[in-house]
Amino acid sequence: MRNRLDSHSYQSYYQDMEPTETEERGMKELGYYNGRIGELSEMTVPMTDRACWFGDGVYDAQMVRNYRIFTLDEHVERFFRSAELLRLRMPMTRGELKALLNDLVRKMDSGDLMLYYQLTRGAGPRGHAFPACEPNLWVTLVPKKIIDPAEPVGLVTTEDTRFLHCNIKTLNLIPSVMASQRAAEAGCYESVFYRPGGRVTECSHSNVHILRDGVLYTAPTDHLILAGIARAHLLAACERLGIPVREEPFFLSDLMAADEIITTSSSARCLRACRGEGIAAGMRDESLYRKLHDEVTAEYERETA
Ligand code: PLP
Repeated sequence: MRNRLDSHSYQSYYQDMEPTETEERGMKELGYYNGRIGELSEMTVPMTDRACWFGDGVYDAQMVRNYRIFTLDEHVERFFRSAELLRLRMPMTRGELKALLNDLVRKMDSGDLMLYYQLTRGAGPRGHAFPACEPNLWVTLVPKKIIDPAEPVGLVTTEDTRFLHCNIKTLNLIPSVMASQRAAEAGCYESVFYRPGGRVTECSHSNVHILRDGVLYTAPTDHLILAGIARAHLLAACERLGIPVREEPFFLSDLMAADEIITTSSSARCLRACRGEGIAAGMRDESLYRKLHDEVTAEYERETA
């Protein structure tokens, strides 16, 4: 089965295909490019793919446990929305993409994975305006388990110098890369972005929320943040637990005075943060944090059992 698809033939191939349970396993780290499938380290892509010239594409990423892709519908929906906002042409329907991703997951040796997919505008000579080209779909699968450390994680703060389209999950991530490295060099997990005036937006690869007096505060889903899927599930957990939520801007001073600081992302569901820039912060309402953590963890484990 492994290399059965010619480039660009996936579209018709997956049109009528129902996923089967009989796929052969055997892949350690999988790469897929327009129907070509192989071990990731052996895959190559054209230098002229517009991902290389301009980062001209969008992506999504999510966790797989026990060969089950968690919240697939929501991620695929966001992937299509991002593509539409950049006027990228999606080469298959939502149903075909989901069938393809499930099919690729079943080729893997391990059922605990990070699933990443991206769509680029296509390949062509370097030129800013869109060339006449076909879109390119990339998928990678690598073994990974969700990050859920027993100890709270550290944060640094970084001025948010990103553009004003942070709601689109584009491949252009340089400010996030620099901010993430800043956190790593400080021995911290994440970098909290703030705009001029101190408004907290999100982190380099997570959303950030605070608990104060039993209320969860989180930035609204406007153009300054990515509408995280884990964020949405945290808010749903608040609703189930009767914890009030305020989706409104909050500031660095609120972050530093918070009872708890929580980061969420698909790969690190719901983390407790304990310091910012070497200053003690949060860590004052462990029982409420625990309730939330346990609620979202139970949902993840139930859905991927
Ligand atoms: N914000 C940014 C900038 C991100 O890159 C991510 C994840 O990649 C998130 C938030 C969290 O999104 P999700 O919960 O969908 O993983």
